[in-house]
Amino acid sequence: QTEEPWREFNRTRVYMSDLESALHYSLRVELSAHSTISGDALTALRHYVSVLTKYFPGRPAVKGALKAVGNWLQDQKETQISYSDFRTALDSTVLSGEGVLPAGVRWVGCQGSRPQFRGYPCAVWTLFHVLTVEANASGSTDPLEILQAMREYVSSFFGCRPCASHFASMAQDVSDDVTTPSTAVWWLWSRHNRVNSRLAGEPSEDPHFPKIQWPPPELCPKCHGLMLGGEHTWNKDEVIAFLRNYFSSERILPDYLQ
Ligand code: FAD
Repeated sequence: QTEEPWREFNRTRVYMSDLESALHYSLRVELSAHSTISGDALTALRHYVSVLTKYFPGRPAVKGALKAVGNWLQDQKETQISYSDFRTALDSTVLSGEGVLPAGVRWVGCQGSRPQFRGYPCAVWTLFHVLTVEANASGSTDPLEILQAMREYVSSFFGCRPCASHFASMAQDVSDDVTTPSTAVWWLWSRHNRVNSRLAGEPSEDPHFPKIQWPPPELCPKCHGLMLGGEHTWNKDEVIAFLRNYFSSERILPDYLQ
C-alpha cells in the first residue's frame, strides 16, 4: 500500500467517506476472494445487502445502487451466484441510471498513521454502529436484524480470519442479550469495547490511535459512572443516548467524498 497524503479530520465525528469506502471494500474487494458464493455465504450476502438497503444513510445515488443490487440478488433463483455476475450487476447500476457506488477507498476518520493501521476494520465497526443506530431511529421492530447480518457477514467474508472467529464466539449468545433495538446499540458498543481491551498494546494498535474504553470522559462525561469497589461503571442510559447522537445520520460529515 502506498502512503496517501494526510487528510485533516475531526476525531469526534463520523465521515461518510469511511462508510462509502467500507461498502466499496466489502462488496468489491472482500467478496472478490470468492469466485462463487453459495450456502451460508449467499445468505450472509443477501442479509448484508438487505440491511444496507434499508438503513444505510447515504447519498441518493449510493442508496440507488444498493437497492438495485438488492433487487438483482432477489432475482437470482439459483443456489449459487458467481462473483463476476454480482460485480457486473453492481457496476452496471451506473449505466442503467439506478445509482452509483464510488470505486476505491478514501479513509478519513479511519485513516491510520501508517498504511497497515486502521482503514477497513475501523470502517466496518463504524458502519455497523451507524446501522444499529439508524435501525433504532427508524423504528425497526427486529432488534437482531443488524447484528445477525453483521455476524454472518464477518463470518463469511471478513478477510481477517482470527477477527472473524473471535467475533463469532463473542456474538454466540447475542439473541439472549439483545431484546430491543436500543439494546442492540448497547450490545455492539460493549462488545467493541471488549475487543479494544483485548487489543490494547498489541502490534496491530496504531500508536496515534490507542485502544481505549470508549467514549473517553472528554467526549461523554455523563457516560462515566461512579467507581464501585474500585471498578469503573458506565451509565447505560447516557451511553445509549450518546451513541444515538454520535452515530446519527444527521451528524455524518460529507467531507472528502469521491
Ligand atoms: P476501531 O476499534 O476500529 O474503532 C473505530 C472507531 O470507532 C474508533 O476510532 C472510535 O471512534 C470508535 N469506537 C471505539 N470504540 C468504540 C465502541 N466501543 N463503541 C463505538 N465506537 C467505538 N483486530 C485484531 O487484531 N484482532 C481481532 O481479533 C480483531 N477482531 C475484530 C473483529 C471485528 C468484528 C472487527 C470489525 C475488527 C476486528 N479487529 C481485530 C480490528 C480492530 O478491532 C480495529 O478495528 C483495528 O485495530 C483498527 O482500530 P482503530 O484504532 O481504527 O479503532
